[in-house]
Amino acid sequence: MTSSLATVSYIGATILFILSLGGLAHPESARRGNLFGIVGMTIAVLATVLGPQVTSAGIPWIIGALAVGGAIGLIAAKKVQMTQMPELVALMHSLVGLAACLVGFASYVDTSAVFPTAAEKAIHEVEIYVGIFIGAVTFSGSLIAFGKLSGKIGGKPLLLPARHALNLVGLLVVIWFGRGFLNAHDIHAGMTPLLVMTVIALLFGIHMVMAIGGADMPVVVSMLNSYSGWAAAATGFMLSNDLLIVVGALVGSSGAILSYIMCRAMNRNFISVIAGGFGSGAGAPAAASAAGEPQGEVTPISAVDTAELLREAKSVVIVPGYGMAVAQAQHVVCEIVNKLRQSGVKVRFGIHPVAGRMPGHMNVLLAEAKVPYDIVLEMDEINDDFSDTDVAMVIGANDIVNPAAQEDPGSPIAGMPVLEVWKAKTSIVMKRSMASGYAGVDNPLFYKENNRMLFGDARKMLDEVLGALSA
Ligand code: NDP
Repeated sequence: MTSSLATVSYIGATILFILSLGGLAHPESARRGNLFGIVGMTIAVLATVLGPQVTSAGIPWIIGALAVGGAIGLIAAKKVQMTQMPELVALMHSLVGLAACLVGFASYVDTSAVFPTAAEKAIHEVEIYVGIFIGAVTFSGSLIAFGKLSGKIGGKPLLLPARHALNLVGLLVVIWFGRGFLNAHDIHAGMTPLLVMTVIALLFGIHMVMAIGGADMPVVVSMLNSYSGWAAAATGFMLSNDLLIVVGALVGSSGAILSYIMCRAMNRNFISVIAGGFGSGAGAPAAASAAGEPQGEVTPISAVDTAELLREAKSVVIVPGYGMAVAQAQHVVCEIVNKLRQSGVKVRFGIHPVAGRMPGHMNVLLAEAKVPYDIVLEMDEINDDFSDTDVAMVIGANDIVNPAAQEDPGSPIAGMPVLEVWKAKTSIVMKRSMASGYAGVDNPLFYKENNRMLFGDARKMLDEVLGALSA
């Protein structure tokens, strides 16, 4: 392939990636967006492999790597549960970071590159230094995020004394060694500062994510997504590959925008999330254990009575959460919705921006169950309607419907916007026990007078509700 054909292919792939991002912004166009992404990536890989920068001796290596990487990806995609997606994404970000590091070291030891001027050589070395730095931070930070999301590392923030000063000293040392790296006379002399910087960057990535609490992990995942984009862009600079620079910048900036949107959805200041220390350990019922006793009385309800309430309602809002994903209850939810709509009940879904364990988690599940898009509303679109709602049915959600976010300034989730289900005539919470959600805080919703608890696995309970509705 000639270099001009490769350039044209790169431009085509770039346009497809932009169209893909645009498509992924809405559930209705998400499939099309995905398709654009797949076609764009295929063109990008083919244009690179068949392009002028790859010699024929390299082709077998590339085919071997594609086969091994493709097989691992295929097996992982088939095996991984939907609820494990954020862990998988974190692991993949770590690979982008590792790739940036390896490409950086390979570019440095590659003596075949010729630089006409000293300035061009210096620019190339800055690219290598910065690229390896971003890559190493992304690599170790993503591995820690993977550990935290999969529960292998506790969610509690690790707060070292004088941690901000520690980070600042680390950064100054990195700059100092950067000077040494640029002034090095040969590869051997430059390797020491490069390795020292890499170790500091790895420690920096570990420290940064360890300091962030469980409740803020969603922002961290999207932030690392952004870092992985910048790492890819840095790799593009090192390899003089325009497509990688553009795609890296697209991923980097879209990840940064997503982090900002998520911060807003959780009422967090982006800088304070990155600075760390917020959010308690995941999974521990913090408020309940602090008080040492239950916060009040709850009123249980049966599946048959739930069906009765739903049948008599004029307006129903369903709020799905992580538990619906765990129970894989989306299909039976859809059947219940169809049944209620057939008998004239107005049914809508209220989706919180951080419901579940990844952005868009609930939308993906509901789309898979073929729930019509026009009844799936975002939090801001539905929150004012709860006072006119007869039944708000919460399926496996907890933090996103926790009134403590509004009522208790001391709560770890204070200030996070929530779906105000307690304003409905009756709210029904479907979950297996009184256990807390991801943020590890007790939920006063459960004890409200107009709230009912339908205890049990969401799938099993909804099957029973559907049975009672059909009877
Ligand atoms: P939560 O984690 O707050 O609550 C989920 C609830 O589902 C639990 O309390 C659990 O209670 C219940 N549950 C679990 N399994 C089942 C089951 N089989 N049947 C019925 N219920 C079940 O989830 P939310 O969706 O309300 O909130 C999301 C949380 O996750 C937020 O804190 C958010 O910050 C965080 N997060 C979000 C990410 C994102 O990008 N969306 C990424 C990472 C974290 P019980 O055990 O009693 O059944």
